[in-house]
Amino acid sequence: MRLLIVEDEIGISNFLRDGLREESFAVDVAVNGKDGLELALCNDYDLILLDWMLPGLSGIEVCRQYREVNKTTPVIFLTAKDTVDETVFALETGANDFLKKPFSFTELLARIRVQLRHKDEEVSILSSGNIVLDLNSYMVYKDSIPVQVTQKEFALLEFLVRNKGKVCSRTKIIEHVWDLHFDADTSVIDVYINFLRKKLDSGQNKSFIHTVRGVGYMIKDD
Ligand code: CA
Repeated sequence: MRLLIVEDEIGISNFLRDGLREESFAVDVAVNGKDGLELALCNDYDLILLDWMLPGLSGIEVCRQYREVNKTTPVIFLTAKDTVDETVFALETGANDFLKKPFSFTELLARIRVQLRHKDEEVSILSSGNIVLDLNSYMVYKDSIPVQVTQKEFALLEFLVRNKGKVCSRTKIIEHVWDLHFDADTSVIDVYINFLRKKLDSGQNKSFIHTVRGVGYMIKDD
């Protein structure tokens, strides 16, 4: 899952970026409205956290222009404003949710999860074959036995399982699992796939993750 944070207060954006990366999200940050809108339009984000008061283009204007081109990615506003009028205004502009500063990280995370669940109508458990992922605890189980994975491995596996039955190209994987600071060398995906295979395939004669030659990877539907 790849998120965009548009926030001009560096302290807040650093705090959010670090916290969300710890929760296995890929995170990009923009510090003004113009850059935020540009990133939002160029990349395929799963969710956007948008500050209201931004230099240049306001959060409301970013949201309006983003929705004008029929982008449906969930947007959560982060703002000091909280009057009924302002909340209604934000929602009418196309925001999906509204969080008043200061907020707790736990509450933000819960709201992000709600929006992502809305997006694909899934619950907190993902599974394919004998592999189960718990999105609340970030645990992976094989035949009900916990498998230790790193945050990046979890994010990669989550993306593949969410898209089971579909081929996931390296480009698509990079777009959703790694962030902008990544230098687009997709061979890192192969390295992480190998890490996952070592952990998931022991005692099996077939790999859980299938290689689609020249394209990427897929997990076959049950
Ligand atoms: Ca601000």
